[in-house]
Amino acid sequence: DKLKQGLSKTRNNFTEKIDNLLKFTRKVDEETLEELEEVLISADVGVNVTQKLMESLREHVKSSRIRSTEDLKAALKEEIKGLFPQQKMSLQPPCILLVVGVNGVGKTTSIGKLAHNFKNRGYKVIMAAGDTFRAAAAEQLDVWGQRSGVDVIRHQEGSDPASVLFDAIQAGKSRRADIIICDTAGRLHTKKNLMEELRKLYRVCQKEYPDAQLLSLMVLDATTGQNALAQARIFKEAVDISGIVLTKLDGTARGGIAIAIAQELNIPVWFIGVGEGIDDLQDFNPDEFVDAIL
Ligand code: GDP
Repeated sequence: DKLKQGLSKTRNNFTEKIDNLLKFTRKVDEETLEELEEVLISADVGVNVTQKLMESLREHVKSSRIRSTEDLKAALKEEIKGLFPQQKMSLQPPCILLVVGVNGVGKTTSIGKLAHNFKNRGYKVIMAAGDTFRAAAAEQLDVWGQRSGVDVIRHQEGSDPASVLFDAIQAGKSRRADIIICDTAGRLHTKKNLMEELRKLYRVCQKEYPDAQLLSLMVLDATTGQNALAQARIFKEAVDISGIVLTKLDGTARGGIAIAIAQELNIPVWFIGVGEGIDDLQDFNPDEFVDAIL
């Protein structure tokens, strides 16, 4: 299926290394465990998370719950599944989705896909072109809007994002929209200003539409591996992040980063991008994900 196909590079990375390791192993000993540890770290699971996983696996070996290499693989899968926070996205319209992330991670594309996805589920959606800094961002949103028949509220380039959001909220109220999805700027080189801008957008939502559910989605690019984690920490400081969209999993063998993100940030991944097309955004399901890569 699409998920397995999208994750094939990560799957090869994981499965090939782990299967190669286990193929020539008769019994599970310390040497096997050390090699497994290396595989996990090289697959972008991250040092901290790998150590945590190895601790649990060693316990299982000690208590004889793991005897064979099959047991080891099964236990590894179970342990990884247990690392993901389980909170599902629960939409309570009217809802504002504030979408944040660094330029180039796939923010605008993900917003277009989300709008399409929500519309197909029967919601009335409005998009707000809150990235007034990047020249092409509003036009790009317009194209997505036309593709899926979703209205886009936009102002001139360089205008105040807060006023775009203000207008989108008014439009959302009068058109009885269920979901307002707001794009935001991602120019990390002016980090301080950007974070202030995001906080301001957050306040506009609270003040102008207190009855609306406010969720913020952070978009991260899986191909950037551990860098994605560093970005996430910066955004997490500025605004409360409700959930994550992990993009470009189709183009990378570094999908193990999803495991590091789940564990180190303790923020649920809600959606994953597995291609550039309008239907290439999937709901994230930890169990399916782990089964697809291992
Ligand atoms: P933004 O600057 O964060 O708004 O990034 P864009 O939405 O413009 O996306 C940057 C590039 O990444 C575009 O070429 C997108 O087509 C591509 N992209 C976004 N999501 C995915 C994905 O899930 N898979 C792949 N392969 N490409 C993606």
